[in-house]
This record gives sequence, C-alpha cells and structure tokens, in this order.
Amino acid sequence: MGAVVITGGASGIGRASARAVAAQGRGVALWDLDGDRAAAEAAAIAEEFGVAAHGHQIDVTDAAAFDAAIDASRQVVGPIGGLVHAAGVVRADGLGQLDADAWDAVLDVNLRAFPLLTQALLPELRSVSGAAVVGISSIEGWIGNGAIPAYCASKAGLLGAVRSMAAQLGPEGVRVNAVCPGYIETPMLADALEVPGLREEFSNSSVLGRVGQPEEIGAPVAFLLSDAASFITGASIVVDGGTTAVD
Ligand code: NAP
Repeated sequence: MGAVVITGGASGIGRASARAVAAQGRGVALWDLDGDRAAAEAAAIAEEFGVAAHGHQIDVTDAAAFDAAIDASRQVVGPIGGLVHAAGVVRADGLGQLDADAWDAVLDVNLRAFPLLTQALLPELRSVSGAAVVGISSIEGWIGNGAIPAYCASKAGLLGAVRSMAAQLGPEGVRVNAVCPGYIETPMLADALEVPGLREEFSNSSVLGRVGQPEEIGAPVAFLLSDAASFITGASIVVDGGTTAVD
C-alpha cells in the first residue's frame, strides 16, 4: 500500500496520525513548517515502530515545493500510497475584521493545499494498489462559528473537494475521504483551553463529557487509509464525542 505523507505531521493530529499509520507497519513522511520537529518526530517513529520515516520542512502553501519534497520523501520511505492533510491554521477574524490576505492565508493552508498536493502525488498514488488520501476537516465544516468564518469556509470547502476528487479518482482505485474532528487537545486548541470556562464548555458539548485526544483522530485516519476501508470513498467521518449529534 506504500508509505503515507502527513502534512502538519510534527504536531497534534498530524503527529498522532503518523504514529497510527506507522503502527500499521507503513512508512511515513512528516511534512511540516518546523523541519527540526518533523525530523525529530520521524526519528522517534522509526525507532519505536521500525518503519522508514522522513521529516521534511515545507510550507504547504508553496505548491512549487511539492515535487522536490515528494522526491526527498520517496528516497527514504519508498513508493507513496497515501496522504493525510493535517496542516492547518485558524484565525479569529469575524465580520468587521476581515482582511483579504488573512482570509487567503487560512484558505491556502487548510483547503487549497489539499487538492494541489493530491495532484502532485497522483503519479505515486496511481502506482500503488489501495492508495487513499484523507483531509482533516472539522465539525466547523458542518456547523457555523461566528468568530472564524475563514476557517469554517476552508473546512466546508474541503468536504466539497473530497467529494469531487473521490468522483474523479474512484475509477482509478484511489479513495478520498475526510475526518471531521470535534474539540481535540492539541497545540492549536491550547490557548482556547486556557480561557476560563472554555474547557468545560467544550467538554460539556460532547456527550462523553470531555475533549478528545489526538490519538482518537489518528486511529480513524489510519483506518480510512487502510484496506479495511476499501469501500469507503467520498465520505466524511465526524469524530467529535457526539458534540454535533445533540443540542
Ligand atoms: P497543531 O497541533 O497546531 O498542528 C498543525 C500543524 O500544521 C503544526 O505543526 C503547524 O506547524 C503545521 N502547519 C501550519 N501551517 C503550515 C504550513 N503552511 N505548512 C506546513 N505545515 C503547517 O493543530 P492540530 O489541532 O493538530 O490541527 C491539525 C488539523 O486538525 C488542522 O487542519 C485543524 O484545523 C484540524 N482540526 C483540529 C481540531 C482541534 O480541536 N484541535 C478540531 C478540528 C479540526 P507550526 O506549529 O510550526 O505552525
């Protein structure tokens, strides 16, 4: 099935996804803005799971850098049969504070990078049987949050991109899916969790009464990339402890 490229692989959900994929015996290439952290995480994964692992510094908004990154990763991990797009950013700019460049900055990382990177990886994905890609969306791709319109748009847009890419790539045997996490304890959420009352609010929004852990997203991501999910494509799986299931 080949190795898996994980953007945002040095932190949070990307890191947990890389570890879950490596636990299945697959090689992993961790791509991240922070190259040192990506290299350190890759070394730790290689040591713990005995798989080939590569850490690579990249800004995923720079599509011109994709081919060199793919070449560098392939040299370490071999043929690439999967992608997890977990690199992501959030900005709290509601209406009244919108700025065109800031809007594009969120969309470029969270949304645009996913189809462009899938496109760059296509020769690899086509060469490997059982290839699949997963985009990390959010429950905020389904529900509105007035403070973060660009983020909500990027995550809803990703679901549209998933369905479109699944339609095009299905006949070639390449599956495309999304995972929509709820509130997960990662560096992205760290500041919010420090705001008095917000951890309780996030926890109480879940019928399980807590926020999620990154490993609880890594596991369904690794499942979607595996042959166990061989008839799942064009889908999005909400993993939110029931937050969006109840009012
Ligand atoms: P995180 O710990 O901040 O991880 C995001 C990673 O992406 C970081 O390592 C970050 O690097 C990297 N990154 C950001 N911009 C990049 C770029 N232009 N190029 C390459 N790498 C870049 O956050 P997380 O919570 O794991 O988020 C992972 C994904 O899950 C995101 O798409 C996020 O929107 C989504 N998500 C998270 C939650 C949640 O509650 N945590 C809920 C729903 C969805 P630096 O740290 O160096 O900037």
